[in-house]
Amino acid sequence: MIPKTPRIKNPKLIKQIRSIGYCEYCSSRFALQVHHIKTRGAGGNDTEDNLICLCYLCHGWAHDGLIRKEELREIVNKRGRDYNVD
Ligand SMILES: [Zn+2]
Ligand SMILES: [Zn+2]
Repeated sequence: MIPKTPRIKNPKLIKQIRSIGYCEYCSSRFALQVHHIKTRGAGGNDTEDNLICLCYLCHGWAHDGLIRKEELREIVNKRGRDYNVD
């Protein structure tokens, strides 16, 4: 059995990603949530490249596989610093 490496947790960064204030997929400003592109269950880390601010609709689609992980990764990679990091 391969021991799982503990995932990186960063609640502060989650708040910062949430503070982007719009859905990074569809630009909606309604019912925003922070999504882990690689899910927490799969050991996904709280890192900038694994977190994306999505509205509840896009969030649901992401979990249903209707928005591909690759697509989300691309958005995250192109993202500037829209949020405050102190
Ligand atoms: Zn959306
Ligand atoms: Zn999610």
